[in-house]
Amino acid sequence: QLDSLAGFSAVAVERMHLNREVETVRVVAETESMRSALLSSLSHDLRTPLASIIGSTSSLLTYGRSYSEDVQRDLLKTVLEEAERLNRFVGNLLQMTKLEAGATVPKPQWTDLDDLVGTTLERMEGRLEKVHVALDIPPMLPLFQVDFVLMEHVLMNLIDNAVKYSPVGSTITIRGHAEDGWIVIEITDEGIGIPAEHCARIFDKFFRVYSRDRVVAGTGLGLAICKGIVEGHGGTIEAESDGENGSTFRVRLPVRTPTAADLEGVDAPP
Ligand code: ADP
Repeated sequence: QLDSLAGFSAVAVERMHLNREVETVRVVAETESMRSALLSSLSHDLRTPLASIIGSTSSLLTYGRSYSEDVQRDLLKTVLEEAERLNRFVGNLLQMTKLEAGATVPKPQWTDLDDLVGTTLERMEGRLEKVHVALDIPPMLPLFQVDFVLMEHVLMNLIDNAVKYSPVGSTITIRGHAEDGWIVIEITDEGIGIPAEHCARIFDKFFRVYSRDRVVAGTGLGLAICKGIVEGHGGTIEAESDGENGSTFRVRLPVRTPTAADLEGVDAPP
């Protein structure tokens, strides 16, 4: 009986090894196919704006003199917009690399939500032309501590997405309120929405709901970066949508009561 038990466990161990090997092969194959999908998506995202820049500049160089001032201006505007898109894309790639290497260390400073949102919107001015932006941020919200530049990056990604996935002329609403030791920031759009089953997955790196038909250009990196930065501040980020009538992105950031030492700082609250 002991012999047959030993034989049985040898077979079981053998099978376990085999299963493990099969699993390793599966993971390697999956990683490989992810890597080539990623490379093809990255080259597409780099080439589309580049093709547009090359087309517009060569057209300007060749026929520029015969174009009206308006046409010349439109072509230059395309070049600028596409170059800015490339810049944001490379910025996101760098930010992701830094986050993954643990090289993003937030430098928190006392921040007022009104100021954070106002500064972000000012910096995005040219990108908000096709939508209305409504603000609902009550005065006298508690100050909170965040890395201003990183949090600007989060808001920019969320607002850029709201514009990207919404029709021209729609409204994007940015709300803020305080809730049990948290500052809550909500960005609501009237765009295409997100199917409920994808609301959690969109924060995964490279996940895109409509990647196949490529209706809108993108890399699937922005929200993964937002999540990394927000969680690095002890906060949370979530998406809410019924899949049809727009989406709401909600960021919660912890509020800490300032100590006497904090109040000695330049940005101290009154
Ligand atoms: P990207 O926009 O570059 O694809 P993100 O990480 O910013 O990457 O977003 C991931 C995916 O989440 C998008 O591809 C899109 O499918 C979905 N998404 C993000 N924001 C919105 C939004 N405001 N409305 C609808 N879908 C959105």
